[in-house]
Amino acid sequence: MQLIDSFGRTVNYVRLSVTDRCDLRCVYCMAEEMTFLPRTEVLSIEEFASLGRAFVDLGVTKLRITGGEPLVRRGIIELLQNLGQLPGLKELCMTTNGTHLPQYAQAIRDAGVKRINISLDSINPDRFRQLTRFGDLNQVLAGIKAAQQAGLKIKLNCVALKHYNADEVPELVKFALDEDLDISFIEEMPLGKISEHGRAAEYVSSDELRSQLSLTHELQPQDNSQADAGPSRYWQVEGYSSRIGFISPHSHNFCGSCNRVRVTATGRLLLCLGNEHSVDLRQQLRSEHYSEAALRDAIVNAMHHKPEKHYFDLDNEPQIVRFMNMTGG
Ligand code: SAM
Ligand code: SF4
Repeated sequence: MQLIDSFGRTVNYVRLSVTDRCDLRCVYCMAEEMTFLPRTEVLSIEEFASLGRAFVDLGVTKLRITGGEPLVRRGIIELLQNLGQLPGLKELCMTTNGTHLPQYAQAIRDAGVKRINISLDSINPDRFRQLTRFGDLNQVLAGIKAAQQAGLKIKLNCVALKHYNADEVPELVKFALDEDLDISFIEEMPLGKISEHGRAAEYVSSDELRSQLSLTHELQPQDNSQADAGPSRYWQVEGYSSRIGFISPHSHNFCGSCNRVRVTATGRLLLCLGNEHSVDLRQQLRSEHYSEAALRDAIVNAMHHKPEKHYFDLDNEPQIVRFMNMTGG
C-alpha cells in the first residue's frame, strides 16, 4: 500500500505532535500567555499508537514524534517503544528542545530512535533565555551531551531571526563542527499570532545567512538529491563531517517534493504546514464503529485534500492561526 496525493506525490513521512504543551515559550512559536488544550481533547498514547500502526500499514516508513515538547508528554517512552517495533517502519525520530534529554536520552535510544533533532537558537545563555522566554541553556547543553553519550545522531535546528540571533550563525556552526553535529537554519514561518516581534522585520533569508557564513567558512554544496535531504539544502566545510542545512520555506519553496503530513495533538491530520486542509482522525479513533480498516480508509481519502503548495505572506496578518506547537514542527 502507498499513500499518493492528487499531484502524484507519495506520502511516506508522518509527524505526530503528541502534545501542545511545552516547558519553554520560544518567541517565534508561542504567545507568552498560551491556553493549552484540555487533556480530553488530546489523543491518548494508545490512540497515537493506533495511528502510527495505520500509517505504517499504508506504506509510511518514517515517523517523527514532535509537539509541543514531546518529552513533557506522559507515556512518551511507552509510545516510542510501541512504534519502534512496527514492522515496515524504517525510521523513528524525534524533535525536542532537549531540556529533558539528560533524563530520557538512553530510553529514547533503547526504544529504537537513532536520530533526533534538537532545537538550539543560541549558545549565549542570555540570548537563549530571551528567545525561549525563560529557558536555561545549560539544561539543553547537558541534553545534547546525554544524547551523544546514548549514541543518538543529532541535528541541531535553529530558527534564524534578524535581530535576535542571525549574527550568531558562524558561532553556532563552529559549535556544531566542534561537536560533530549537523545543523540546520530555518526561516521563520508565520504560524499563529505573536506580539514581541514582527515576522517580516525579523525575516532573514537562507541565502543571506549563507553569504555571511561564507566569510568565515569555506562551504561546499552537498548532493541534495539524497532521499533524506527533505526540505534542507546542505553544505559542508572541508575537513568536517557535519552537514550545514538551510530550510527556506520563503525563499526556496520545497512543496514539489513534499512527502509528509502531520497529525496534531487532537488527531487532526494536517495535509500541509501552510494550509488549513485537514481531516479529523480523532472522530474515527473514538467512533463506536471504530475499525483499523475504517481508520486506514479515512487516511487514504484524506490524501485527495493535500494542497499543491503553501503560500506564506509575512506582511499581512497570519493566514494560519494555529501555532507551531499545534502544528507539529
Ligand atoms: N519542542 C520541540 C522543539 O522545539 O524542538 C518540538 C516542537 S517545535 C514546534 C519543532 C520545531 O519547529 C523547532 O525546531 C522550532 O524551532 C520550530 N518552529 C517553531 N515555530 C516556528 C516558526 N514559526 N517558524 C519556523 N520554525 C518554527
Ligand atoms: Fe516549545 Fe519547541 Fe515551541 Fe520552543 S519551539 S516553544 S521548545 S514547542
